[in-house]
This record gives sequence, structure tokens and C-alpha cells, in this order.
Amino acid sequence: MDKISIIVPCYNEQEAIPIFYDAIAKTAGEMPQVRLEVLFVNDGSRDASLMEMKKLAERDDRVKYVSFSRNFGKEAAMYAGLSYADGDYVAIMDVDLQDPPSLLPEMYRIITTEDYDSVATRRVTRNGEPPIRSFFARRFYALMHRLSKTDIVDGARDYRLMTRQFVDELLRLGEYNRFSKGLFGWVGFNTKWLEYENVERSAGETKWSFWKLLIYSIEGIVGFTTAPLVMAAFLGVFFCIVAFLALCFIIIRTVLYGDPVSGWPSMTCIIIFLGGIQLFCIGILGEYLAKTYMETKHRPIFICKETNIERNQK
Ligand code: UDP
Ligand code: MG
Repeated sequence: MDKISIIVPCYNEQEAIPIFYDAIAKTAGEMPQVRLEVLFVNDGSRDASLMEMKKLAERDDRVKYVSFSRNFGKEAAMYAGLSYADGDYVAIMDVDLQDPPSLLPEMYRIITTEDYDSVATRRVTRNGEPPIRSFFARRFYALMHRLSKTDIVDGARDYRLMTRQFVDELLRLGEYNRFSKGLFGWVGFNTKWLEYENVERSAGETKWSFWKLLIYSIEGIVGFTTAPLVMAAFLGVFFCIVAFLALCFIIIRTVLYGDPVSGWPSMTCIIIFLGGIQLFCIGILGEYLAKTYMETKHRPIFICKETNIERNQK
């Protein structure tokens, strides 16, 4: 009998956890041919999430949990889940039911009968999301598509079912700055995309502020393309050419018309403008340097405080 481990990152989700469990129990009923195991990752919640997990684990031995020493972020939670999960197939699912468990039987059917190593999902609509957030999300994916060779799909969720081999390869990417949507694409293999309409949260509220998403998107760009560095270099060349042309213009004008002293406001503008461009480029450089710095520290991606999984810890 195949075993599917479902990784569920949770951060302050005490209301959503029981609802999620009921939904997944129903899905398990529809899939008698597999053993579904739920692996909750408590990402340093400050509410009763861990209590809820423990309660469920007492009742049902298919419920496992890993609890962090503090909030490490969803990316770290997914990585922890992947390293603790031992199923033949592994799925990642949000606890708020925005990743419908009802898709799981279909995903399992595809991965076992067709030649795919992973079945992923993408939202084709963003109903119920603030329009400004959707707008920037779409811009981000359009930009990534142009800048990066790695396939990063618009509307892609972290919700996907993967084979053991796929997971093992993912685990080899032990980088500290994680952007899973890119990592999934980077490892390659054959991925089938299922599409579905956006579902609104079952309970609780979103943990992602606009600011958090913005930082996350920078993580994505810096992690998967070095194009901004090239852009900085091109900007430099561009301004050298502009400066050279301006120089020619000024020399010719001075020779023809003399040199009345004027134009300090335009000079100030130019200096400020170039100063801005330079700071911007140093900022880009700094961003890459900062990421490199964090990677070289080799800090662990997460710290597990307690778990009910009796296995050699990874
Ligand atoms: N999450 C997490 N750690 C965090 C933030 C979020 O584990 O620091 C989990 C959260 O509990 C949920 C999933 O990541 O299961 C997706 O979060 P959310 O639903 O808030 O994001 P949205 O669906 O609004 O993008
Ligand atoms: Mg959600």
C-alpha cells in the first residue's frame, strides 16, 4: 500500500486545524488504496495550534507533528516537512483549505498511472484577493518569466504531489534563502499542472502582508536570476554614452556660442539623478552580497523543538 505524507505548514492556525483535519479525513475515506499521513509543521505559533495538533495525534496515529522553536517562515516549514516525511509520495498543502484536498485523488491517479514525477496546481483566478495584491503578483510573475531561465508559473501554488525521487532531489537543495516555487522548477522532472478556481480561506486570516510578499518576491528574483546585476552594468554603459554625447554637445556649443555661466539647476538635477542610479545599483549588489553572506553562515534552516516522529533526525 502506498503511503502519502501531507505536509501542512501552520502558523497561528488554531481554528483552521480541526477543519482541515475533517476535510482530510474525508479525502482519506475516498482513497482506501493509500495510507494518508498528515505531517503538521508548527511554525512557532503563538496560539493553541500545537495543542490542536497534539489532540489530533492522540486520537489518530496518522497525524504527526514537528514543532519549531520559533517562527521560521513557511519556506522553512516546508523544508522541515520534506525532510521528516517518509511517504512514497509527498504532498504540500495549506491548512486553510485554499489548496482543496478534493484534488488529491486525481493527483494521485495521475502520478501513479501517467509518466509524471510531480503534479502541481495553479490558480486560474484570484477572486477574493485584494486587487492591488493580484496586480503586483502578476507583474512579479511576468518579470520572473523574462528574467529567469527557471520555469516559475503564474498562479502556481506550493500545493503539489511529488514522488520520493523528486523529494530527495529537492532536499539536496539545502540553501538558506528558499523560494520553493523556483526550486520545484529548478529540479526539473515532468510536472503536470492542474488548474482550479481560487478558494477563500476556511478560517483565520492570511499571514502574508504586502510587505512580507514584497520581500519574498525579492528573494525569488535574487535566488533565481542574476539579471539585475547585468542590468546595473548596462545602466553604467548607457550613462557613459549619454555623458560622452553631452560632452560633445557642450564643446561644440561653447565653440560656436561662447560660454555664458548658467544652468546650475539642471546640473543639480543631473547629479542627484546619477547619485540615485548609483545607490540603486549598489543596493542591487548589496542584495546579492547579503544573500551570499547568509548562505556562507550555514545556519540550520529550522530548529525542531518537539515532534512525535521517532526517527533519526535530519
Ligand atoms: N505559514 C507558515 N509560516 C508563516 C506564514 C504562513 O507556516 O510564517 C503557513 C500558514 O499557516 C498557511 C500557509 O503557510 O498554512 C499559507 O499561509 P496563508 O494562508 O496565510 O497565505 P495566503 O494563502 O494568504 O497566501
Ligand atoms: Mg491561504
